[in-house]
Order: sequence, then structure tokens, then C-alpha cells
Amino acid sequence: MTNDQAVGMWWGLFIGDAMGVPLEFTKPNNGKPVKTFTEGGVHKAAKGEFSDDGAMALAIADAYISQGRFCGSTIQQNFIDWMETGVFGTRPGEPAWDIGMTIERSLRAVKNIQRPYTGSSMADSSGNGCIMRLAPCIIWNRHNLSAAIGESVAQALLTHGSSDCITYTAALAHELWEGKALPQYDHLRDRPINNSGYVADTYASAWYSVMTTKSFHAAVVDAINRGDDADTVGAVTGMIAGRVYGISQENLINGLQLKEQLLKTLQKIIGSD
Ligand SMILES: [Mg+2]
Repeated sequence: MTNDQAVGMWWGLFIGDAMGVPLEFTKPNNGKPVKTFTEGGVHKAAKGEFSDDGAMALAIADAYISQGRFCGSTIQQNFIDWMETGVFGTRPGEPAWDIGMTIERSLRAVKNIQRPYTGSSMADSSGNGCIMRLAPCIIWNRHNLSAAIGESVAQALLTHGSSDCITYTAALAHELWEGKALPQYDHLRDRPINNSGYVADTYASAWYSVMTTKSFHAAVVDAINRGDDADTVGAVTGMIAGRVYGISQENLINGLQLKEQLLKTLQKIIGSD
């Protein structure tokens, strides 16, 4: 993976999230597609404002930087701090404003931060929160495939421990690292396309948008205009498409909230090589 591809995956996550937030919980848009940052929606988002997907990715990146390695306890503490104080998010000082049920339940279940793996293994806890924040694990481990997959799955288990969550997290981590769809996971993509919050639907929907378009921007536009969990499908699509194509849309990067903080964090997880 080149630095450009790693950089594309990082910005792609935040751009897809921020473009999707105003469309969260909407019906599929069959009219004129939304093609850039907008505002509003159920969270009354500002233009370029990212949500839990971006904030939790920042929380993971921060833990890699502060520990110099993967540390589940540090990541989980960062997640808890984000939930309670909004740190890593766009509205610091307020509790997290877009937190999934499965995630909140796991974070509140932590009694001892040295035992941080509180994700439920029940099948009905198979939300997409585990795959929406993978970019830092892949970038940090871009020269080590085993660590990229292993640490992606380990961060998933902090909040999502179901069989589907493990399967889809491992598949997406592997594919993000390789930068392409891999045939052994084709059957995971073979399902009706919709933007529900179920991890299997989000994975298939994001790949559908990448595979039926020819650019980063077209893929993200396709994904978010299916509405529903538009921000998370946007974030996953953005990671894949940013990894595949890189990002030439400087205006989208410049339109993101907290751009300077995102850039500094990116530079630290990429390191010097
Ligand atoms: Mg979100």
C-alpha cells in the first residue's frame, strides 16, 4: 500500500461519513442525488461534520499514537471518553451525539478497563459499528497483513462480538489491506442491496457502490443516496474507494470539520516511511 492509498482510505472515511450524516434515516433518494457536503438531518449536522464513525476512528488512531502499538484498553477508554465528553468528535464538551445502541451498551458494560472486551456475541448485536472505523488499523499495519486483520478484529470485539461482525470485519480488513475485492468473500456481497445498519448489509452496499462506479466521488454519492444508515455506509464506501482510487477532491478534504486535527493524526499514524 502506498502512502497515497493509505491517505485516501483515511480521508475517504471522514468524507463519506460527513456527506452521509444529513441523509441518515432518509428513504432512498430517487431524485437529484446529493453530491457534496450538506447540512441538517436528524442530527442537525453542519456542513462537513463527521459523526461517530469518524470520531471512533480518531479514538483508535489516538490510542495507536499514545501507546505506539495496539492496546485494546486504551482504545476502549478513548471510546468511553468520547461517549461521555465528546472528545475526538465535532462537538467536544457534549456527550457523543450519534452513538449506536450496541456500542453504548458495550461501553457501559466495562467495569475494569484492563478487561475491555465487552462486545455482545449475540446474533442480534450485528451492527455495522465494527467495520466503520477500520482505517487506522489498516494504515498502522500497512506492511503487516496479519496484524492488520488481527487488530481490526480485536478492535471490533470491544463493542461487537457476534459471528457476523467477526466475519465481516476480517473480510473488510483483508480487502482494504489488499485494495480490492477478494474472491473468497464474494458470497458475502451476494445479497439484496440496502443501507440498513446490519453489518452484512453495510458491507455489501458499500462494495456495490464501489463496484458499480468508476471514481471515489461517484462511489460515495451512490452510497449515501440510498439513505437509511447513509453516514456509515458512506464511511465504509469512502474507505474502500479512497483506498482504491486515492482522493483528488481537495475541496472535500478542505470542507471537513477538524481538518487540521485529522491531518496531524494521519501524519502520526503513517509515520516516516
Ligand atoms: Mg454515524
